[in-house]
Amino acid sequence: MTTKEAIEKLNELELKNFALGHAMGIMSYDDETVAPKNSRMPRGKTMGVLSEMSYRLTTGDEAVGLLEYLKEHIDELGPEDRRRVELWDKSFRELKAIPVEEYVAYSELTSTAGSVWREAKSRSDYRLFEPYLRRIIDAQRRFAALAAPDTDPYDYMLDKYEEGLDRKRCDAFFAALRSRIVPLLERVKAAGPVDTSFLSVPFPVSAQRELADKLMDIICLDRDSCIIGEVEHPFTTAFSGYDVRITTHYYERDFISSMYSVVHEGGHALYDMHSDRRYAFTGLDGGVSMGVHESQSRFYENIIGRSREFVGLVYPELIRLCPKLAAHSPEDVWRAVNAARPGLIRTEADELTYPLHIMVRYEMEKAMIDGGADTADLPEMWRELYREYLGVEVPDDASGILQDTHWSGGAIGYFPSYALGSAYGAQLLHRMSGDIDVPGAVRSGEIGKINGWLEDKIWKYGCLFRPSELMERAFGEPFDPKYYTDYLERKYTEVYGL
Ligand code: ZN
Repeated sequence: MTTKEAIEKLNELELKNFALGHAMGIMSYDDETVAPKNSRMPRGKTMGVLSEMSYRLTTGDEAVGLLEYLKEHIDELGPEDRRRVELWDKSFRELKAIPVEEYVAYSELTSTAGSVWREAKSRSDYRLFEPYLRRIIDAQRRFAALAAPDTDPYDYMLDKYEEGLDRKRCDAFFAALRSRIVPLLERVKAAGPVDTSFLSVPFPVSAQRELADKLMDIICLDRDSCIIGEVEHPFTTAFSGYDVRITTHYYERDFISSMYSVVHEGGHALYDMHSDRRYAFTGLDGGVSMGVHESQSRFYENIIGRSREFVGLVYPELIRLCPKLAAHSPEDVWRAVNAARPGLIRTEADELTYPLHIMVRYEMEKAMIDGGADTADLPEMWRELYREYLGVEVPDDASGILQDTHWSGGAIGYFPSYALGSAYGAQLLHRMSGDIDVPGAVRSGEIGKINGWLEDKIWKYGCLFRPSELMERAFGEPFDPKYYTDYLERKYTEVYGL
């Protein structure tokens, strides 16, 4: 076999792997959006069969031979193929460590757990979900021990979502945030509340759907490659740059919730849609990590979406669709969408208290994985942490421990990437501001200028660079959380006139 032939085989293998992921992804999307309740069991079976095919495809003898060959000839490969081999080798090591029966059983478990979680949440009854969560935690700890016996299991999980992230970096990062956010929040509370009452004005769902369309146009999402669906818990899924699905929910008396989830998921979609087209159907396509993904979504949602200029840009549309809002100025709306108030729900949290919600989950996950916590005690631990970090009382499981979907899918170690992403976003803004007039571009509706900058610095590279390297290249310097805390201080000083 020549190196050229090996790369052709790699192309073939990655295409097949893409196809299986595509099929499974469509089924998950169908499950989350429109599938009937009784589809749960047969879907679990199909997912089991397809994930076994995927497992055998990337761990079978032929694949192992190919991988070994490519690793031996790594010096003959260009940087792109080299990274493909590196990424495959990394995922392969993990897959190979897990016996196939366990891998299949786990895939069926998380498929069922997702549906059970939804039911448990709708009934606000953690006891329904607890046996599944216990099995997921056990499986995750076992997989970590098999794949990386010398690594702390929680460090291993953090690294899965953000290559290079570990508990030590997280502890330092969160400590840096806490030392600035807690006193800032105290000053905000002392300044007295901002008027947000008018945000609960009835805003018909049909008009909110129109608003969602308009927002997708404003941030320049190509509608031939991106559609929007309706779910309880919004998410984005990408089947390649050609087909990205975003989702939202609509509450008549909370249009802001839908408005900002559309902009947030739109940020994910933009990133997924703009990998270099040459990377399509290969391991280099799409976002490189959850932290970088969240840096894009939260950049659009908060840094762009909650800016004075963006609110001014959308304002004429808001009052056209909901005339009652015309009694309030763009400045009132801007202030209201930036009000900081400790609450119960992470996805509804303001920019300032958001990282505190993440810190709660970080503490929970450490306790879950270190084995010190019994799953039966988790709701009480959740209530205590919310009391301590946010000063709020959690009334029930639905607005407490059952609010997020992540753990039902086995995503333990994911949450810290949200806070890290916010911090990445603030440092990107700093750097971007040296090249373009960001407020000016938003004011005049030229979001394309911002998209162009991000495409050039981040999106087009797909998974070519490791996350920390990608970000450092974009920043032109090492990562520093002070850009994030400075940004928060600046913004809240302005919103509250501190
Ligand atoms: Zn997100």
